[in-house]
Amino acid sequence: MAKLKGLNNNHLKTNNRGMVLRTIAGGRHSRTDIAQNMGLTKMAISKIVGELFDDGYLVEKEADPTAAVGRTPVLLGISDSAPLAIGVYVARSEIRALICDLRLRTLFEEKTELRGETKDTLMQKIFALTDAAFAYLQKNRPENRLLGVGVSSISPLDPLKGRILAPTNFYGISDLDVVKEIGDRYGCPVYLDNDMNASALAESIYGIGKKYDSFLYLGITNGIGSGAILDGRPFSDHSITVGEIGHMCINFDGPLCFCGNRGCLELYSDINVILDRLRRETGESTLTPHDLERVSKKPGCALILRDMIDKLSVALINAVNLLDTQCVVVGHEGAFLPDEYLKMLENKINRGILAAQYKTVEVVRSTFLDAAPQLGGACLVLDRFFSGAN
Ligand SMILES: [Zn+2]
Repeated sequence: MAKLKGLNNNHLKTNNRGMVLRTIAGGRHSRTDIAQNMGLTKMAISKIVGELFDDGYLVEKEADPTAAVGRTPVLLGISDSAPLAIGVYVARSEIRALICDLRLRTLFEEKTELRGETKDTLMQKIFALTDAAFAYLQKNRPENRLLGVGVSSISPLDPLKGRILAPTNFYGISDLDVVKEIGDRYGCPVYLDNDMNASALAESIYGIGKKYDSFLYLGITNGIGSGAILDGRPFSDHSITVGEIGHMCINFDGPLCFCGNRGCLELYSDINVILDRLRRETGESTLTPHDLERVSKKPGCALILRDMIDKLSVALINAVNLLDTQCVVVGHEGAFLPDEYLKMLENKINRGILAAQYKTVEVVRSTFLDAAPQLGGACLVLDRFFSGAN
């Protein structure tokens, strides 16, 4: 179980308050459980909890009656008046905006399809969705504090400059100063990161990643990317190209990739490549990732999926050897791979890693399936709040 590192130091009061909130928001509800998870005394936790009650962030929850042996502990929950975050997800074919509470429950969500956009029309569409989110807040949650807007986007991008650089197949749009544009319009904090790091963050705070100190989120979509959580924190909050596992070479004399190298992983195993092969195999031109389970029963399709897993395992063995992660969380459209193929991937990784005798890597499905990247946008804001930044 991943442990948070609390500190008994008044100067870090804000930080500890944030971590207590994060722990409760992530599903731990008793003071004892929170104290154990953070490595703080129960007395320290009770003091922080008292302040959070005073601020209106917490409520008492009803205890689980089935667990009532002896004295039932008072359980803590997040109050409906606690702060909220807006997440914006910029994908190749659509954008989404959503409002999440501290528990990552979605209160509002809208999306718009993209086609033939320019920088200006794209920004107008982002504004239209974000305006709708602000209108929702004004009408339905006027008392809640808004923490900010988090933008989870296809990459490459520069998180520090708040700029989407030049994603491939993205209408020729480049150098979009999305953080400045949104910040100027709404006057609130705005954060940007790539959709893989944002997804990893969502898994780390709210999803299956809570169980692990270190894991790799593998997003299989139109392209393949990854986001690493190491020792409980994102590997890098500000790099332009970290996690580009889709451009890891798995065949040095393979076909040429647009990146200039040969035999990159995503040429063989991204979701579009696999769906195209499956469509040719089955004659079904409308196959989607939701059909993977069904078609995997056909022998020809099973061969295609096995080949996909072979290629993925080569890259993941390299990644695990480099990063020493405990787990690989498979997400984006890859989350629709059938269980037996995730297990196959796990077995191949565990046979291939250098530390095969000493450790076992788990391969699991993303808690949020293909919704991780949009929820991740809100998590960019929530993570900063929990870290005591705002
Ligand atoms: Zn490449």
